[in-house]
Amino acid sequence: MYFLSRLTVFSVTEKPAAPPRTGARGVQVVNTGAEHTFVLDEEALEQLLLQDDIKDRAAVVISVAGAFRKGKSFLLDFFLRYMHHKYGAGGGGGEWLGSEDEPLSGFSWRGGSERDTTGILMWSEIFKATLETGEKVAIILLDTQGAFDSESTVRECATVFALSTMLSSVQIYNLAQNIQEDDLQHLQLFTEYGRLALEDGGRTPFQRLQFVVRDWSFPYEAPYGAEGGQKILQRRLKVSDKQHPELQSLRKHITSCFSEIACFLMPHPGLKVATSPDFDGRLSDIEGEFKRALLQLVPMLLAPHNLVPKLINGQPVRVKDLLQYFRSYMNIYRGNDLPEPKSMLVATAEANNLTAVAEARDVYTTLMEEVCGGARPYLQAQLLDLEHVRVRDKALHAFRAKRKMGGDEFSKSYHDQLIQDLEEQFQQFRAHNESKNIFKAARTPSVLFAVALA
Ligand code: GDP
Ligand code: MG
Repeated sequence: MYFLSRLTVFSVTEKPAAPPRTGARGVQVVNTGAEHTFVLDEEALEQLLLQDDIKDRAAVVISVAGAFRKGKSFLLDFFLRYMHHKYGAGGGGGEWLGSEDEPLSGFSWRGGSERDTTGILMWSEIFKATLETGEKVAIILLDTQGAFDSESTVRECATVFALSTMLSSVQIYNLAQNIQEDDLQHLQLFTEYGRLALEDGGRTPFQRLQFVVRDWSFPYEAPYGAEGGQKILQRRLKVSDKQHPELQSLRKHITSCFSEIACFLMPHPGLKVATSPDFDGRLSDIEGEFKRALLQLVPMLLAPHNLVPKLINGQPVRVKDLLQYFRSYMNIYRGNDLPEPKSMLVATAEANNLTAVAEARDVYTTLMEEVCGGARPYLQAQLLDLEHVRVRDKALHAFRAKRKMGGDEFSKSYHDQLIQDLEEQFQQFRAHNESKNIFKAARTPSVLFAVALA
């Protein structure tokens, strides 16, 4: 059971009367099922993504991924502080980082007694913001979990990493100490997918990849923060003959798959954070250097002018569309092996087409409601036929106008299905219209009944 009635949608720019935070929590939307399979909690996801005030907004999806017990959730909870304080009721001034003695809450970060389940959690508050362009967006935070404790869970982790990368506009790749060769290897799948996507649509497939290196201990080599991060990143992405050809290829292509790649070096937060069982996240127990780094990093990701909406094939993804992407991607990540880049592309193209179908159907329903909806009077049958043709053409045009991956051939079956759907919808509109025909109704009440039941 989900206590979503208590969940709140928190406004970033349109400030709510009071920050209604009670009950907000990380909702596990992707779970592990039997035999290391993954299951999508569609019900939970729908309740989060189909809320009226956010469902049509462009989605900004910020995910934090990487190995287990490396401070991902801990970092995310500072993101939440920023969201609540900086833009919340009465916010704007002062220190978003919080007071010295306040325990850190949000996504569960200590694990400890509770067993961490592998999967993806979505923060139940979806934040609203307005970009500098005036575009209204909704910000979704994703936490990921995985434990590398056996062979099978390594695959689980890779799956969670892949899913969250496909679904986010900002993937924060959280690493301990340094960027290692095998950390880059995890990105291989995306450069291969990216190449196919580029061939298909010619648009950069992913937006922002943000490495965050924790416990960086060579500040004399590269300073903490974004600048030092850039230096390390450039060094790691340099191509050399000594590298495995696959890694050389990865380096050559990765920059074309993400519109932005950055790296940030975090200092060690201090021994209390790393080792004390009593540490509850309060600032007074955290090293000053770490807090200063947070003050730099968090606004770089979350300030309104730094928000990055999720694009697929160059087009913004609305919050409600994300549902379809979750579904399509889950289908290919269900099995025991990581999917081929080709099937990732097919899944994206499928979700692409299905959201275009949904949009076209919306166009049809909205326009037909205006013509012959509940409040409208009876319309003569021939006139209704004409209106149907006019509105259907508009809906089909909306479908065709939407840029889709997979090519025309792939799209055709969705197009045909759409025509059939619209025809079915028309039959319902027609039946409803007939039921308003009082002359007919007066003569043959039984016919009216049959039509109403049809
Ligand atoms: P997650 O599994 O990656 O989400 O890790 P958590 O956020 O649950 O944190 C795991 C542990 O790491 C907690 O005990 C934190 O106190 C500690 N921790 C958080 N941030 C850091 C960091 O930057 N460095 C170190 N060494 N420990 C951290
Ligand atoms: Mg965690």
